[in-house]
Amino acid sequence: MRSEQAFKEAVKVMPGGVNSPVRAFKSVDMDPIFMDHGKGSKIYDIDGNEYIDYVLSWGPLILGHADDKVTAELAKAIQKGTSFGAPTELETKMAELVIERVPSIEMVRMVSSGTEATLAALRLARGYTGRNKILKFIGCYHGHSDSLLIKAGSGVATLGLPDSPGVPKGTAENTITVHYNDLEAVKTAFEKFGDDIACVIVEPVAGNMGVVPPGEGFLQGLRDITNEYGSLLIFDEVMTGFRVGYNCAQGYFNVTPDLTCLGKVIGGGLPVGAFGGRKDIMEHIAPAGDIYQAGTLSGNPLAMTGGYYTLSQLTPDSYAHFNQLGDQLEAGLTEIFAKHGVPITINRAGSMIGYFLNEEKVTNFEVASRSDLKLFAAMYKEMAAQGVFLPPSQFEGMFLSTQHTAEDIDKTLDAFDKALSAVK
Ligand code: PLP
Repeated sequence: MRSEQAFKEAVKVMPGGVNSPVRAFKSVDMDPIFMDHGKGSKIYDIDGNEYIDYVLSWGPLILGHADDKVTAELAKAIQKGTSFGAPTELETKMAELVIERVPSIEMVRMVSSGTEATLAALRLARGYTGRNKILKFIGCYHGHSDSLLIKAGSGVATLGLPDSPGVPKGTAENTITVHYNDLEAVKTAFEKFGDDIACVIVEPVAGNMGVVPPGEGFLQGLRDITNEYGSLLIFDEVMTGFRVGYNCAQGYFNVTPDLTCLGKVIGGGLPVGAFGGRKDIMEHIAPAGDIYQAGTLSGNPLAMTGGYYTLSQLTPDSYAHFNQLGDQLEAGLTEIFAKHGVPITINRAGSMIGYFLNEEKVTNFEVASRSDLKLFAAMYKEMAAQGVFLPPSQFEGMFLSTQHTAEDIDKTLDAFDKALSAVK
């Protein structure tokens, strides 16, 4: 197995053999599968195995792997040079497209990752309000900056890590955490600290504790409370942006945040993030204002090309396609798990689908944590052996692309059926 050998070499030179922890497959008790290439809904490992891919690079590849238009435009762009450190017209075109699609964004700044986007949005919220504290939700992941690496989901939850060493106590003290979907806890925190809370940051559909949608009125409740106390509301749409709906989660739920963070899909597989929002707030960012934020490769021409030609190919029909496949997957999983007598709870939002090996309705991280992680790991291995590449953690969602087909879903359901027979 070339993958095994590749991993042996990798661990000698990279911490855990990977450049991002979730790629290590630890929670499913496997070594990582090393990939070679992808096309459409399929990904191929270095041993030549084909998989139907529901990881899609952890979200960005909404058009599937190696989309023809995106790769052709990238090939053209690369001939012109890879970076200029001066403005290009494509950056303005990209900003215009983002503003057109994302209801609350009037002005936007490009960065190179989701972490950078949330980090900058927090600084802006603190600088704009002159307040120090922020409120986030347990199990929501907003990247790995100090203020946000408190009770975070995703890899932090997957690896069962406590809040990371290296985050200064003083920084942690300024981050208030409460359970997702618990509006009462948010109200209590505001009654106590309201005058010093700069912002509430939230994943409008949580995607880093598995997929957990907001309960009825939760997002509007956050909007009302933050308005009342003069705090900013930040939607972290790094994962949900252009996945939950054509106009992102904020369009889908019709709630308007002050600031929005984007990443993943907005780069179409290249390193891009962005933060944007109300013009009167964004104009505090340097050089228009005095809140500093910068990046050598921000608005990079290749990254903008990847993002622009990804976003411009999405249409409302793309989301109808996701819903159709989601219906098929949900109905099939429900039937197969019932047949095997194994509890399952399915949560969906657009092209994000979470299945929990849990009989309870999953509304927050505490409930998600009560899922059967052992069975998840055992089933994961069987699914991989049958050519289905799923996110290797109960605390991550599955993603669909425009290239996934009803036939892919049928094959995936068949694999789940066989996997359940094998592990029982
Ligand atoms: N915010 C959310 C909601 C995310 O899901 C992620 C990554 O998974 C991030 C922020 C961080 O983005 P990046 O990994 O590009 O730094």
